[in-house]
Amino acid sequence: MGCGERLGQLVQRLRRRRGARSPITAVARNPNHLDLFVTGTDGKIYSTWWDQSVGWVNWFNVSGGAAALGSEITAIARNPNHLDLFVTGTDSRIYSTWWDQSSGWANWFNVSGGAAALTSPITPIARNPDHLDLFVTGTDGRIYSTWWDQSEAVRVHVKVLSEPTTISRAQMTQSMRDVYAGVGIDVVIASEETLNLPLLNDLDVGTCVVGSTTAEQNDLFGHRNNAGANDICVYFLRSTVPPLNGCAAHPDGRPAAVITSVASPWTMGHECGHVLGLVHVNDNDRLMTGNGTWNITNPPPDLIQSEINTMIASPLTS
Ligand SMILES: [Zn+2]
Repeated sequence: MGCGERLGQLVQRLRRRRGARSPITAVARNPNHLDLFVTGTDGKIYSTWWDQSVGWVNWFNVSGGAAALGSEITAIARNPNHLDLFVTGTDSRIYSTWWDQSSGWANWFNVSGGAAALTSPITPIARNPDHLDLFVTGTDGRIYSTWWDQSEAVRVHVKVLSEPTTISRAQMTQSMRDVYAGVGIDVVIASEETLNLPLLNDLDVGTCVVGSTTAEQNDLFGHRNNAGANDICVYFLRSTVPPLNGCAAHPDGRPAAVITSVASPWTMGHECGHVLGLVHVNDNDRLMTGNGTWNITNPPPDLIQSEINTMIASPLTS
């Protein structure tokens, strides 16, 4: 009644003032609260909300501008304290952002790489609070789906011999989270520890080949305080000999990687990708490019379905 009228007024106000390009998507995450979402003509997502105790608030922009947005926005609440938004970008890829009661809005990220050129709105459904299924129509007229499940996570223990100098640990962690979240894997930083190991701060990594490690690597990777057998230890150190951004060669039973002070935003996600069983590819749009992660184009870099399957099949994700 009153609520419906106010809704109409708000929509008209948006159309007059900014011009709404898409239909409104509304979601009720509890019986006393409504959230509205719309794509503006500037290609950004706008939201407002109504709460039983507060009434309507002003429109605001959600999480900045995703890659110019092509489709209408869709929203879903898989629990009362969480929202997920989905939109198809003009690059035909799916973008998502989320809001959580405890942490607010996240950055936009690409979901599951690029499916066959997508044009339609995304239809999301949560059949339980820890699972999402997405459906979309491709330009080939076929229907595509992907899914996210809360249960997939990788536990990382951070060990610091030297802080990185170019890209901060926080930024590397966020970049890794952005890519891994896009394929349904949470990155849990399970512990952080400073290690005083000056003799291993410029680490001899030999040829840095999986299955072949040096005495220094074996020594370093013995430092696994707090880490379970299926947890990854990531060691931040000054440099490797020979010089690399990072190296994921590790002894059996001690999943680990090293990250050097000159690492890129994507090195941590890349090296952990190796630990999860991924190999190099010759494609600078992808996380596992063998050409150096500083050369990644079109960030955030992609993981393809076969890589996602390998990561999820790894005993290090659960
Ligand atoms: Zn690599």
